[in-house]
Amino acid sequence: MKLVEYEGKDLFIKYSIPTAKRYGVIKIGEDISKLKIDEYPVVIKAQVLAGGRGKAGGVKIAKNESEAKEIIKNMLGMTLVTHQTGGKGIKVEEVLVEKANDIEREIYISVIMDRKISSPTIIASKEGGMSIEELAKDKPELIVKMPVDVETGLMDWQARELAYKLDITDKSLFCEFTAFAKNLVKVFINYDANLVEVNPLIITKEKKLIALDSKVIVDDNSLFRHKDIASLPDRESSELEKEAKKIEINYIGLDGSVGCMVNGAGLAMATLDTIKLAGGDAANFLDVGGGANVEQITNAFKIILKDPKVKAVLVNIFGGIMKCDNIAKGIVEAAKNVDIKVPVVVRLEGTNVKEGKEILKNSGLKFEQADSLWDGCKKAVALCK
Ligand code: ADP
Ligand code: MG
Repeated sequence: MKLVEYEGKDLFIKYSIPTAKRYGVIKIGEDISKLKIDEYPVVIKAQVLAGGRGKAGGVKIAKNESEAKEIIKNMLGMTLVTHQTGGKGIKVEEVLVEKANDIEREIYISVIMDRKISSPTIIASKEGGMSIEELAKDKPELIVKMPVDVETGLMDWQARELAYKLDITDKSLFCEFTAFAKNLVKVFINYDANLVEVNPLIITKEKKLIALDSKVIVDDNSLFRHKDIASLPDRESSELEKEAKKIEINYIGLDGSVGCMVNGAGLAMATLDTIKLAGGDAANFLDVGGGANVEQITNAFKIILKDPKVKAVLVNIFGGIMKCDNIAKGIVEAAKNVDIKVPVVVRLEGTNVKEGKEILKNSGLKFEQADSLWDGCKKAVALCK
């Protein structure tokens, strides 16, 4: 689950990580008069799940109240296109208003899970602010990597070494930094995060350390033990994805026209690839799960068919634990429960596949049957055209 900047900063505050003084968050329809701003300038920041807001007009400074009102009015409701939004853009529904700080230095620091070494790892650079991807390309020697033991967290000596590598030598800043780095790792570990990033971590002209931005991604599989995170709004999923989540179907909406119902994530991925190979595009990724009973298949049909882009459905199910004849009965039953207005191609494979195909054939319903994954994908793609 991805958190927006101010939600990530709420976690920072809990862990004594210094952030810019916050005046508040304003949503569409609200205005700045609800905030008590004692000092200008302030920074107004679009709260969307994408980085690169600064360059795209999603971070603006206001020198007085009338400027702030104007900026907020223009920013709320705008579609922000950054290099991380994939050309599409995201609508700005909320803005964060915080104190504008005088920046002397910008540092990059993040904690990620390094799968190769199976441990959290700090990535840092004394040249923050800009995109870390560009830095990695242009000046890889400026990137520091430090693995962290998940049991002990960041050790004192590691925090000190990091401070030296980032050229933080001023005595009081040095202590502030080591405490900061240890707390950042604590946020990562305690919240089962996949990523905790601060870009930039700044040193102000008054020699204070402040986390000016936050990017936090919490592992979805851990949400059951982080009720505070689980209760935050889900900003990533579409309405259909949220609906699917509630009934425990793994569904992700895509841009194509072939609706897919598959059992198993691996087979679902292979199906998407094969549809592409056959010249089409999938409308979704959908894994009905191992059970694939009538109820789940009915629900899956309902979800797939709510997407108006779907011109044909491809059911691709492997009868391993469940036998094909039972799956076929499930498909027939489900198809009777749902008003299906588009052609349905079914590819069954596995135990009792013959019996399964017979059941589909004799059902009186118009299924197009396929003998292989390739055949199924070709048929579904052709039916979309
Ligand atoms: P993004 O990473 O999405 O571009 P940031 O929060 O990092 O957004 O902001 C972009 C830049 O704007 C920062 O690198 C910093 O220079 C400036 N900035 C952001 N917040 C503040 C602030 N509170 N005070 C002063 N400058 C800020
Ligand atoms: Mg940033």
